Amino acid sequence: MHRKYVIIGNSAAAVGAVEAIRRNDRNGSIVIFSKESQSTYSRPLISYYNQGKVGRESIYFRPDDFYEKNDCDFRPGTSVFKIDIHSCTITTDSGSDEKYDRLLIATGSEPVVPPFPGLDTVSNVRTYTSFDDALALEELISSGLSRVLIVGAGLIGLKCAEGISKKADVTCVDLSDKVLSSILDDVSSDLISDHIRSNGIKLVLGNAVKAFSGNKAELADGSRIDFDVLVIASGVRPCASLFKNAGGLTGKGIIIDDHCRTSAENVFAAGDCVESVDMSTGKYKVMALLPNAYMQGECAGSNMSDTECVFNKAIPMNALTLFGLHILTTGSYTGEVSDDSEGNDIRRFYHSDNRLNGYILINNIDKAGIYTSMIRDRVPLDTIDFGLVRKAPGLMAFGRVYRDKTLGGKS
Ligand SMILES: Cc1cc2nc3c(=O)[nH]c(=O)nc-3n(C[C@H](O)[C@H](O)[C@H](O)COP(=O)(O)OP(=O)(O)OC[C@H]3O[C@@H](n4cnc5c(N)ncnc54)[C@H](O)[C@@H]3O)c2cc1C
Repeated sequence: MHRKYVIIGNSAAAVGAVEAIRRNDRNGSIVIFSKESQSTYSRPLISYYNQGKVGRESIYFRPDDFYEKNDCDFRPGTSVFKIDIHSCTITTDSGSDEKYDRLLIATGSEPVVPPFPGLDTVSNVRTYTSFDDALALEELISSGLSRVLIVGAGLIGLKCAEGISKKADVTCVDLSDKVLSSILDDVSSDLISDHIRSNGIKLVLGNAVKAFSGNKAELADGSRIDFDVLVIASGVRPCASLFKNAGGLTGKGIIIDDHCRTSAENVFAAGDCVESVDMSTGKYKVMALLPNAYMQGECAGSNMSDTECVFNKAIPMNALTLFGLHILTTGSYTGEVSDDSEGNDIRRFYHSDNRLNGYILINNIDKAGIYTSMIRDRVPLDTIDFGLVRKAPGLMAFGRVYRDKTLGGKS
């Protein structure tokens, strides 16, 4: 049977799906629609591109011949603006229709731009989520516009700050009094703020931008900041509206099950556009992370091509380096905290009901996979030497039963 697969989006989730489909089905046709004109690239690398650490060639996620080798009909620069789940058809912005047998929605997330009064009077405004954003920012700064104001001190704002810090005079404003407030707790956030400031970034925290008047920002405390370029990094939201408008089930994102199926027959979804079960809490959550996106895409692609696959290991996890400092966070910060930090070496472990729920490591992130396995496997803490494993992760702190299971009976 010749099957037609349609994929909306062309990033990590889409690539995972294409690779899984082609493992099972060499004959079906695959059509990929992408709003962006680039081949598939790694979004986390855009700040490394601005830093000059990664060249144009290395930012691409797959080699040039990826589409040809996988026999994909790639349609760059083409937006899908409607899905009809009854007639199994999508419609593009140019008005053409495409039927599907199986559809994957891999539309990712989009930047949130708050409706600041006076934003329309500002020149040189960008967001920072795409390679085109990185290229445009590069061009503005190279043309001599060196004072950059970034609104938002979350992951995207700070990665942008790092990317341009050697070439521009950067100020980062956030209404929260903590940086990376969605992925760190207060103690670790303070350490990171000091580190960022010591690398020349001006951080203005606990102070909201109220309005703009030309290239001048007015802040809640009455102060003003003059700038040449404005980067809005106030968060992202899942691109779920296509499916919602089609009558599909959505919350903050498209709701999927552990087979990456949506509420509509033959429609799958994966990546930043979805809400799925966070296995550290058992609750539905948007987990906008590249490894999750790829693995969900792979799971969706497998099920779309009739090879059953379950993906139920999604967990919030952030691994990043900021100005040379490694940060690794996983799971949820609930329950009691055990703090084994020493100086800049942060090691904080959250646990309750005899289980590890989450952890934050800064600086030394060696062997952290052990902690992630403890969360995923729900390892009872009274079966291990938890005090030892917090300081020196190693399987010898685990009981024989767990070691045998993990090492296949070779402990
Ligand atoms: C600066 C930055 C740093 C990051 N750093 C990290 C990190 O360190 N670690 C980590 O795990 N994650 C990181 N991320 C997040 C990571 O990039 C995402 O989790 C990942 O890219 C999600 O992949 P995706 O396939 O779901 O969607 P996306 O990468 O968002 O791609 C979706 C694609 O679909 C297209 N699209 C949307 N709607 C339509 C439509 N209607 N028609 C056609 N095409 C459409 C979009 O234009 C886009 O190209 C970072 C993101 C950014 C922006």
